[in-house]
Amino acid sequence: MPSSLQCIDCAQQYPLMRVIYACERCGGLLDVAHDFDKSAKPITRSLFDERLGALDPPYSSGVWRFKEIVYPDIEDAQIVSRGEGNTNLYPLPRVAAYAGVDTLLLKHEGENPTGSFKDRGMTSGVTHARRLGMQRVACASTGNTSASMASYAAMAGMQGIIFLQNTAIALGKLAQGIAYGGTCLQINADFDRNMALVRQVAERLGIYVLNSINPFRLEGQKTILFEALQQMRWQAPDWIVVPGGNLGNSSAFGKALLEMHQLGLIDRLPRLAIVQAEGANPLYRHYAGGFRDFQPVKAETIATAIKIGDPVNLQKAIRALEWTGGVVEQVSDQQIMDAKALIDGIGIGCEPASACSVAGARKLVERGIIKRGDTVLGVLTGHVLKDPQATIGYHADELPGITPTLRNPMLSAEADLEQIVELLSPHPKPLPQNEGGA
Ligand SMILES: *Cc1c(COP(=O)(O)O)cnc(C)c1O
Ligand SMILES: [Zn+2]
Repeated sequence: MPSSLQCIDCAQQYPLMRVIYACERCGGLLDVAHDFDKSAKPITRSLFDERLGALDPPYSSGVWRFKEIVYPDIEDAQIVSRGEGNTNLYPLPRVAAYAGVDTLLLKHEGENPTGSFKDRGMTSGVTHARRLGMQRVACASTGNTSASMASYAAMAGMQGIIFLQNTAIALGKLAQGIAYGGTCLQINADFDRNMALVRQVAERLGIYVLNSINPFRLEGQKTILFEALQQMRWQAPDWIVVPGGNLGNSSAFGKALLEMHQLGLIDRLPRLAIVQAEGANPLYRHYAGGFRDFQPVKAETIATAIKIGDPVNLQKAIRALEWTGGVVEQVSDQQIMDAKALIDGIGIGCEPASACSVAGARKLVERGIIKRGDTVLGVLTGHVLKDPQATIGYHADELPGITPTLRNPMLSAEADLEQIVELLSPHPKPLPQNEGGA
């Protein structure tokens, strides 16, 4: 086999088919380690470029197009896929101007089948679950992991069991978990407690855990960057900016960048910037304190997807920061919602957590860390429809503690011609400008 499980701390190796989530010797997190020298096909840019536009699975998927660096020895027939990935990379001059840089590209992972990047990790995770012969899979979730897992489990004929916090789940995500037939357990606990519970329950009942502690998830999520870099003609940006919650993406990005660099797919390593909400900032605090003494926090933020106080992938994220000369930033809920309103208002749209990429880039420019001339790649992690309450609450000016500085207020009128004409002349607000030209 060209791949095995390997501890990130003591390098102990385990067979790929062992069901473990931590090193038995030291408790460290596990990587799926690949031996690319044993690859059936030489791993080059052209191998992946030739598959672009493929009509048939597996290569029609933006995850499985990169099979040789995701899960080399899986048989195509085993793959559980919804043709995920193939998301747009938007060059957005107005968002770049807001952030204060000349070039900003946003990779919209909300354009995945269930509306978040989680699908990239779920196709690889559920595929491995099927290979293991699992009947039941489970996750703790702030919403998107559960939406994605419920969908992929249903496709694979498995039971998907979801541990949800009983407050603050965005409506779109909850609806998906139920709609896709997931077994939804609302538990009187926050995400961090649910994460601990799901691991214990899974152990007792022989259920497979599909949170990002599962290293097969992260292998699929690496393809966010494989695909973005392919869209950039393999020319690395200066910065990659990503929201950080459980730190699965940050961790996957570190591994993806290192592997792409080692394989010669990119010529240099971009720097990683991980952005957290001020009310859910354990990595930011740890970073600011020189990585000495980690303290979990009690998380609170409007960006529920990153409302996590004790991220499971902490050590992998720290490694990613070390590998890339990375930085950690924090942004307020006000900054998150204003950046979201900007992204929404140009017609692109995203959920609150996603807007951390833009709000964080802006703050890092203000602080002189990102330079105006740097090329910045940001990731929009989830779809605008995921959290309608947050969007409507902002524009209705009903969010406690948040001033809607980019407000698009609703207008209303009687069914009266004169009243409507009066309301619309002159325009109550400037017509939105087209994003296109620059
Ligand atoms: C899961 C999620 C995040 C957080 O990603 P991590 O990998 O847990 O850091 C951010 N935004 C959205 C929309 C998500 O669904
Ligand atoms: Zn170990």
